[in-house]
Amino acid sequence: MLQIHQFPCLSDNYGFLIHDPATGATATIDTPDAEEIMRQADAKGWRITDIWNTHWHPDHAGGNAAIKGKTGAIVTGPAEVERIGTAPDRVVDEGDRVRLGEIEARVLNVGGHTLGHIAFVFDADNVAFVGDALFALGCGRLFEGTPQQMWTSLQKLTALPDDATLYCAHEYTQSNARFALSVDPENIALKTRAADIDRLRAAGKPTVPMTLRMEKETNPFLRAPALLPGMADWEAFADIRKQKDNFKG
Ligand code: ZN
Ligand code: FE
Repeated sequence: MLQIHQFPCLSDNYGFLIHDPATGATATIDTPDAEEIMRQADAKGWRITDIWNTHWHPDHAGGNAAIKGKTGAIVTGPAEVERIGTAPDRVVDEGDRVRLGEIEARVLNVGGHTLGHIAFVFDADNVAFVGDALFALGCGRLFEGTPQQMWTSLQKLTALPDDATLYCAHEYTQSNARFALSVDPENIALKTRAADIDRLRAAGKPTVPMTLRMEKETNPFLRAPALLPGMADWEAFADIRKQKDNFKG
């Protein structure tokens, strides 16, 4: 069974160390802060053997060289990671399978935030690492892809089991909730969740991970077709995305 260690780093990122106790294999999901990741691994007594990147942005792959230099870790990620300096040792994309010791994950292409953005899905553990594709009550900005592409990507994530646990890379939830309430004000589940989020943050606790079921009920991007009926699903998504980009909350 996969062991997961989550910790905050940089201003609003989460670091994740994942560990296969049977073999000792340990991967860092992305490399937002090399020093903090190394410190956290030492504290757990885990030796980093792998770096798994979701996309090329500096707060996700910027620590690759430092961690690889110190540990000799193998870098697995989308080809676009080469934009940050060095190409991954193993390039992966949709449909590929990757192993952490005896534990297997499959790769989804969830492009849109960046074109090559991937997610890692551990079916046996019902867990997915989604990077900046889907956030708690939000989704990644469309820096490179089109709304159609992002909508298709989000459908791959919503096809996972409703009780899947999703780990996203940023603690953006409280500000996402302000926007969500502005476009979906009658949603009781959302109001309840927003209050829970405020309570968690006031106590200094993370709102990540989240369940897919909760996102389906409350995330305005996934709910776009219900919020804006009468247009194509991806067009409704594009509309909500644009509203969020312009939201001053
Ligand atoms: Zn990003
Ligand atoms: Fe990011």
